[in-house]
Amino acid sequence: MSASHRHSESSLVSTLHSLDGRGYGGYKKLRGTHDVGGFRLAVDHVQTDPFAPPSKMRLTLDRDDAGFPGELLITADQRVAVGDFLARVVSAGICRLDAGIAGKGSGGLSIGTPGQQVLDRTSIRFTEDALEARFEVALPAAGRKALGRQAARLLTETLPRLAEDTLRFASIDSQALTDHVIRHVDQLALQAGLAERGLVAFVGDGAVLPRRSGDSDRPLDSGATEFSSPDSLRVSVELPSGRTVTGMGVPQGITLIVGGGYHGKSTLLRAIERGVYPHCAGDGREWVLTRDDAVTVRAEDGRSVAGADISPFISGLPSGTDTSAFTTTNASGSTSQATNLVEALEADSRLLLIDEDTSATNFMIRDDRMRALIPDDREPITPFVERIRALYEEHGVSTVMVVGGSGAFFDVADHVIAMESYVPEDVTARAREIAGIGAPVAARSLEREPAPRVPTSKSLNPGSKRKAASGAGRGAVRYGRETIDLSAVSQLVDPAQTQAVAHALDRIAQEADGSHSVVELVDEVMASLDDVDVVGPAGLDGLSPHRGHPGHLARPRKQEILAALNRYRGLQIR
Ligand code: ADP
Ligand code: MG
Repeated sequence: MSASHRHSESSLVSTLHSLDGRGYGGYKKLRGTHDVGGFRLAVDHVQTDPFAPPSKMRLTLDRDDAGFPGELLITADQRVAVGDFLARVVSAGICRLDAGIAGKGSGGLSIGTPGQQVLDRTSIRFTEDALEARFEVALPAAGRKALGRQAARLLTETLPRLAEDTLRFASIDSQALTDHVIRHVDQLALQAGLAERGLVAFVGDGAVLPRRSGDSDRPLDSGATEFSSPDSLRVSVELPSGRTVTGMGVPQGITLIVGGGYHGKSTLLRAIERGVYPHCAGDGREWVLTRDDAVTVRAEDGRSVAGADISPFISGLPSGTDTSAFTTTNASGSTSQATNLVEALEADSRLLLIDEDTSATNFMIRDDRMRALIPDDREPITPFVERIRALYEEHGVSTVMVVGGSGAFFDVADHVIAMESYVPEDVTARAREIAGIGAPVAARSLEREPAPRVPTSKSLNPGSKRKAASGAGRGAVRYGRETIDLSAVSQLVDPAQTQAVAHALDRIAQEADGSHSVVELVDEVMASLDDVDVVGPAGLDGLSPHRGHPGHLARPRKQEILAALNRYRGLQIR
C-alpha cells in the first residue's frame, strides 16, 4: 500500500475493465492509491470473495478544497460533531442512491450510519490538512466473477459524485451543520456543568422521552406528552452559545421515581441512562444530559463473575463461598446485581441508575415480616436500602431509582418524584411524612475499600484464541472461543462501539502482565483515545489493528470496556 505512488483515474478504469468477467480475486490489484474525480482514493483492503466483509477504502480531499470553516474545527469536540454530521449526510446520500432507479443504486457503499447519539467515530476524520471519509464497498460480482465495468462506474462516477454532494461545505446545509456543532458544544457544557450545580442529571422542559418501540431508539412520533419539570426542581442553565434551557435538575443524593404502573417511570429513567451521550436534533432527548460516569445497575442472572468483592451486600453464604472475591460462571439475581453495583463503583461511577423492573427484590429490600421469620444473622444479604446512604455520604455515589412497589426507600431518599400520566411531581414532603410511620431503616456503612483486581495474562491470552476479538452486533463480542454477552449492558448503544470494545480487549490482553489491575489496563486504553499527538494513527483510529481504514468504530466509555472484560468467562484474577 504505497501512498507515494498514485494511479491515474484512466489507469484505474482500464484495470477494472480488464477484470470484467474474470475471477473475483483480480480485484486485489486495486490495492493502492488512485486519483478519482479530484479526490484521492486509497484502497486499503480488498475482500477475497463477494461474501467476505466488504472492501475498505478511504476517500480524501484537501481541507482547503473541502472548504469547511476553520472555526468549526478548532476543538476535538467540534470535530466530533462535524464528523458525525457528515457521516449522517453521506449515509443519507447513499440512501438516496439506493432509492434511485434500479441498477443505479449505491452498489454496496456504506460509511457506518450513526444512531441517535452523537459519538466520536472513525467514519470521517479531519487531519491538519485533509478530510478523509472511510467507506466500505462491496465490490460487484456475478457469481464469483468480478463485474469490473460496474465497479469502474461505482468508483469513478458514483463515489466521486456522492463525495461532491456530501463532503464539500458548499454542497451541504451549512446552517444545519453550524447548528449541529453549536448544539453539541452546548450539550457537553451542560453535562460538564452538572456537578458544579450539585446535579447528576438534567431533563429539559419539552423533551420527548418515549421511544417508538422496544427495539427502536427513535422518538415516539405522535401522542407523546412532553416533559415538564416540577417547579421545585426546575433549573435554568445558560449555555456557551447564549441559549438558555430550563428543565428538571436531578440533585445529587438519592432520588426516587415513584408512581403507578405505566405512568412513565422507566421511560424517564431510561432517558437519564442514555443522557450520558449527547443526542442528535429531532431525537427529543437533546436536552437530557446525565453525568458521563452514570451506570445502570440491574440483575443479570447467569452472568459470569471473576473476583468481585460483593461482601458489603452478600456474605456468609451457606456454602462458605468467599464473597470478597466472588467468582462464578452463573450468578443469581441478587449476586449478579451486587456484582454489577460493585463493578460500577470500581469503574469510578458516581451515579447508579436502578429500575425495579430489572432488580432482584431480595437485593433491594427486606421487610419486617421477613425479618421476623428469617433473622438477619441467617440472611446473607444486606439489602441495598441499608447501604444506599453510606454510598452517598461516605463515597459520594448518588442513586436515581424507580420504585413503584415499595415505600422502603422513603426513609433514605433526598427527593421523591411521582410520575402521573407522564407528568412528574415533587412529592418529597409527603413521602417524608409517610416515612415517619414504621421503624427507620438501619443505615450501615461500607467498611472497606475493595482490593484491585489483577487479571492474569494467561486467562486473557488463551492458546485457543487465534483471531482478533470482534463485535457481533451491539450486544456481543467474540473473544477466542467465548462469546461475551453484553445484551444487558444497556449503555453500550452502537455496534461500532462494540467493535471498538473488542479491539480494546485485544489491547488489554497484550498489556496484561499480571501486575496491572483491570482498571489500570482500561484507563491506559482510554488515555490512548485522547492522545492525538502520537506518531501514527491517532485517537480512536489507533485502537484498530488495521493501518489505513480502521473499520467503523465509535468511542465506548470506560465503563462499557470494563463491563465487557468483567463478563468474559475466561477471566481469572490473581
Ligand atoms: P412504568 O415504568 O411507569 O410502568 P413506562 O415508562 O414503561 O411506565 O411507560 C409505559 C408506556 O407509556 C410505554 O409504552 C411508554 O412508551 C409510554 N410513555 C412513557 N412516557 C410517555 C410520554 N411522555 N408520552 C407518551 N407515552 C409515554
Ligand atoms: Mg417500569
